[in-house]
Amino acid sequence: MSGSVFDAIVIGAGQAGPPLAGRLTGAGMKVALVERALFGGTCVNTGCTPTKTLVASAQAAHLARRARDYGVVIDGAVTVDLARVKARADAVVATERDGLEDWLRNMQGCTVLRGQAAFESRTDVRVGDDLLSAPRVFINVGGRASVPRMPGVGEVPHLDNSSILALDHLPEHLVVVGGSYIGLEFAQVFRRFGAAVTVVEMQPHLIAREDPDVSTAIEEILRGEGIEVRTGAKCVGLGPHERGVAVSVECAEGPPEVVGSHLLLAVGRRPNTDDLGLERAGVATDARGFITVDDALATNVPGIWALGDCNGRGAFTHTAYNDFEIVSANLLDGASRRVSERIPGYALYIDPPLGRVGMTEAQARAGGRPLLVGSRPMTRVGRAVEKGETQGFMKVVADAGTRQILGAAILGVGGDEAIHGVLDMMHARATLDAYRWAVPIHPTVSELIPTVLGEMKPPAPGA
Ligand SMILES: Cc1cc2nc3c(=O)[nH]c(=O)nc-3n(C[C@H](O)[C@H](O)[C@H](O)COP(=O)(O)OP(=O)(O)OC[C@H]3O[C@@H](n4cnc5c(N)ncnc54)[C@H](O)[C@@H]3O)c2cc1C
Repeated sequence: MSGSVFDAIVIGAGQAGPPLAGRLTGAGMKVALVERALFGGTCVNTGCTPTKTLVASAQAAHLARRARDYGVVIDGAVTVDLARVKARADAVVATERDGLEDWLRNMQGCTVLRGQAAFESRTDVRVGDDLLSAPRVFINVGGRASVPRMPGVGEVPHLDNSSILALDHLPEHLVVVGGSYIGLEFAQVFRRFGAAVTVVEMQPHLIAREDPDVSTAIEEILRGEGIEVRTGAKCVGLGPHERGVAVSVECAEGPPEVVGSHLLLAVGRRPNTDDLGLERAGVATDARGFITVDDALATNVPGIWALGDCNGRGAFTHTAYNDFEIVSANLLDGASRRVSERIPGYALYIDPPLGRVGMTEAQARAGGRPLLVGSRPMTRVGRAVEKGETQGFMKVVADAGTRQILGAAILGVGGDEAIHGVLDMMHARATLDAYRWAVPIHPTVSELIPTVLGEMKPPAPGA
């Protein structure tokens, strides 16, 4: 098929590329979609899907160990068969990946190519021996785990979010460098599977972007399960050790070396833009390699757009999918949707999960406007008490003048679902008062959100 002309080329079958191919072909366009590795990209293969499947296995183990709390008797020890856990995760992933690949291969008007795509010019993309041309190119190449440049990194085996999923035996002691979203999910999962786990984080708090009260509560949850948390500990070097690997840390407290059998580096992600020939198309990137886009996700080169993690405007599956919605609505429906209209929301899938939307309290305070803040511990949420899962709290921050919600955090059982009540209100630009006459379902975590909104007060100065 060397030298083919299309209406559009989509590079990457992650979270934005496939639905975009669906809409473009639906509009009668001839589309080439190129994928170099696994259909579904990070989310399906090495991100959301396998990790949330592991989180479910870990939660089952945790609940089984707590069975006595519920009056349930398990005779004998609770153990985890990692090979079976892995087989379950692999099966869930394979079903999603294969379903997506089948859909794309059967899509009328879509030519699927396997291989590494790279620009030859503004309109030409090479995939092996094939040269594809199109007036529109959509880049959806995602990212990968970044490997920090530090002494010894090349001398020790280390895991990332992909290779850790291939483990079929339990590490004796997993050291996680990086106490943020990805690192913490794996830390709790492997602790619940039975490994000793240490988290090394250079910031004074875990997930430093969150408010300190949220980070502290998460730290307590993880410590309560026996995870050693070393905050304020900067990893400065790695080296082999007779028990596996030694992580040297600069810290004010605790030993300057952390030794474990296995090392997970979870210190951030970098975009897959370094081998895409962007310079031959003239597409600009920022200093970290993220493709520079405008508010409608167009690059600096007319006819080329960048969607998903590679544009640095989001780092989630739902933001990548929203990029697809924005680009397709603007191109095909005459809309003028913008990324800046998106209200940021996400979850951290430790157990219990953290659901988040909008600003943190610290961000809201930095804005300088008068605020209202309301919070409630999960010990005062009936559903959480009934479920025997009372860790965490919920907190909402609003603008005292407009009475619109600025942000919220729900750390606790069901927090990843309950946060959507707040997210939807923010999307609808409703005021706090709009919640007042809603009749929430009892017993739920969500039913306490209107109560929190009704009890909001100005925050204590400087708190
Ligand atoms: C451990 C982990 C857990 C996560 N959990 C969640 C979660 O619970 N919820 C959530 O919302 N997000 C989660 N994420 C983030 C989420 O996975 C990403 O935000 C999402 O996958 C981004 O989608 P994307 O389409 O931008 O890129 P990707 O899904 O990475 O897809 C990019 C695709 O492009 C292909 N590609 C790259 N370069 C080329 C090339 N030159 N030629 C051809 N093909 C190419 C890649 O092979 C890949 O298939 C998680 C991420 C990780 C690492």
